[in-house]
Amino acid sequence: RSNAEKFEFQAEVSRLMDIIINSLYSNKDIFLRELISNASDALDKIRFLSLTDKEVLGEGDTAKLEIQIKLDKEKKILTLRDRGIGMTKEDLIKHLGTIAKSGTSAFVEKMQSSGDLNLIGQFGVGFYSVYLVADYVEVISKHNDDKQYVWESKADGAFAISEDTWNEPLGRGTEIRLHLRDEAQEYLEEGKLKELVKKYSEFINFPIYIWASKEVDVEVPAEEDESSDEEETSDSTSEEGEDEDAEKSEDEGTEKKPKTKKVKETSNEWELLNDVKAIWLRSPKEVTEEEYTKFYQSLAKDFGDEKPLAWSHFTAEGDVEFKAVLFVPPKAPHDLYESYYNTNKANLKLYVRRVFISDEFDELLPKYLNFLKGLVDSDTLPLNVSREMLQAHSSLKTIKKKLIRKALDMIRKIAEEDPDESSGKDEKEVEKSGTDDDEKKGQYAKFWNEFGKSIKLGIIEDATNRNRLAKLLRFESTKSDGKLTSLDQYISRMRAGQKDIFYITGNSKEQLEKSPFLERLKKKNYEVIFFTDPVDEYLMQYLMDYDGKQFQNVSKEGLKIGKDSKNKELKESFKELTKWWKGALTSENVDDVKITNRLDNTPCVVVTSKFGWSANMERIMQSQTL
Ligand code: ADP
Ligand code: MG
Repeated sequence: RSNAEKFEFQAEVSRLMDIIINSLYSNKDIFLRELISNASDALDKIRFLSLTDKEVLGEGDTAKLEIQIKLDKEKKILTLRDRGIGMTKEDLIKHLGTIAKSGTSAFVEKMQSSGDLNLIGQFGVGFYSVYLVADYVEVISKHNDDKQYVWESKADGAFAISEDTWNEPLGRGTEIRLHLRDEAQEYLEEGKLKELVKKYSEFINFPIYIWASKEVDVEVPAEEDESSDEEETSDSTSEEGEDEDAEKSEDEGTEKKPKTKKVKETSNEWELLNDVKAIWLRSPKEVTEEEYTKFYQSLAKDFGDEKPLAWSHFTAEGDVEFKAVLFVPPKAPHDLYESYYNTNKANLKLYVRRVFISDEFDELLPKYLNFLKGLVDSDTLPLNVSREMLQAHSSLKTIKKKLIRKALDMIRKIAEEDPDESSGKDEKEVEKSGTDDDEKKGQYAKFWNEFGKSIKLGIIEDATNRNRLAKLLRFESTKSDGKLTSLDQYISRMRAGQKDIFYITGNSKEQLEKSPFLERLKKKNYEVIFFTDPVDEYLMQYLMDYDGKQFQNVSKEGLKIGKDSKNKELKESFKELTKWWKGALTSENVDDVKITNRLDNTPCVVVTSKFGWSANMERIMQSQTL
């Protein structure tokens, strides 16, 4: 094309496309899910803009917020069209090729190790999955702020963009034409497409139509036998088309009564494939487990085989009304703790009265709960204000508070229903979970392995909920027998007269088990918690007490084990030695030299002062590995 401008794909994108094209991955269906998801996102965006400016929707068909699918068997083209926000020329260049998203290289890596394309949407590169089934793709797009453009590429490292002077004007939105590969001809079968759309569009909040062909009986004059009627295949909507036909045949019938015969003809009409229902508006009792799982998958773009670990679906009433569904994913996303303090990856979708507003609202949940997926739909928030004004709305504080409570309850329940967690619990409570036992078994340990760090960050950051979060804390200890245990369980095992909760921090459990700091405590049968995650050092600066008990780092000054009756005599008899020793080490290196009862076999040990950094903390600060 004479007006085409050529561009090269950004290197990582190009690599990704190569991998997709050459993939032997059998589940190629996923491209459709990605395209529908993009169409739905684009429709959400224009609908959001229309809240403050009705004009943006345009008139007539252009204003219809819908998705259309067409098949062209002869040309082997599958077309998906939306009337969403569309893309400007600059959008096409940036979003479809020249700017690699942060997930691009992560996904390339994942592809090379697992070969599983299923999670492509999670990495923000779902569009490129079109090359699983097509060798040539055209994207025609019209944004309100620009002319209509065509993006096209044969995935050969380059793409071209031209001002569109030959296709029918779209009004607004995007049309994607997939020129299907020979081995992907099944995507021209209407039945296949219908099945896939139904499967992938269950939770899409816009109508999806397919240009379906239908065999109909038509009466034609017996003698002249003129074949097809032009009207039959016109692009008018189905209802109109049928009405016209009906009128016509009646007229003909009453006036002339010619001899007629019936013949079969195919006509096309737009067939609606989904019912646009919002799952969160339904009563939780009516929603099945399978529906929640599927809803989670479409929300989180997580199409693995695992179910979410837990969910909570509720309605908040009172001053601020909203409905919400929260999920704990089965796995942490690849970048959960990447630049935790610099970015906010909010994962809840915010709707106001069924209208999607944003999924980048960081006022809904605190950072440490960013691993949750879900959705909030509020009737209290105003619809026709800017995102910035919403962000500052006073109701958000209440919503956030309630969401945190519900989220922590949901997590607590994972533990409560997990039979592995129930040791030391009252028998009746365990019985309640009944038949689900097998399914719930080990779920909390799983949760902890994926998201334990988030709970710890919560203890550090959220003073209001610190105690609730501390209940969710798990760790190993000198008595936990290789399993995870909780503070409540620790307390239930405390020795008579034991006042403090003992812990030790370090690199690994194996290393800590050999620590001389434990000698005496072990011998006296005291339990000591192992904290081996770098974040634990910070955690213990914030977690001062639990259930009225103080925490004592056993490698620090101030450890009291039972009664120190002999201590006084010993102190006296070794007075000269300790004095000499302190002088010999100089006061810059040590604060004091003391007699201790914390050791058993080891003659002496270096202890950190009460407010100083532990040796482990020194190590962490040196390597800066939070
Ligand atoms: P993601 O949807 O996660 O952002 P994709 O690779 O699926 O990643 O899409 C990349 C980008 O291309 C989108 O973020 C969007 O800006 C743009 N895009 C894709 N499809 C459409 C569409 N149908 N309408 C408007 N923009 C689109
Ligand atoms: Mg997408």
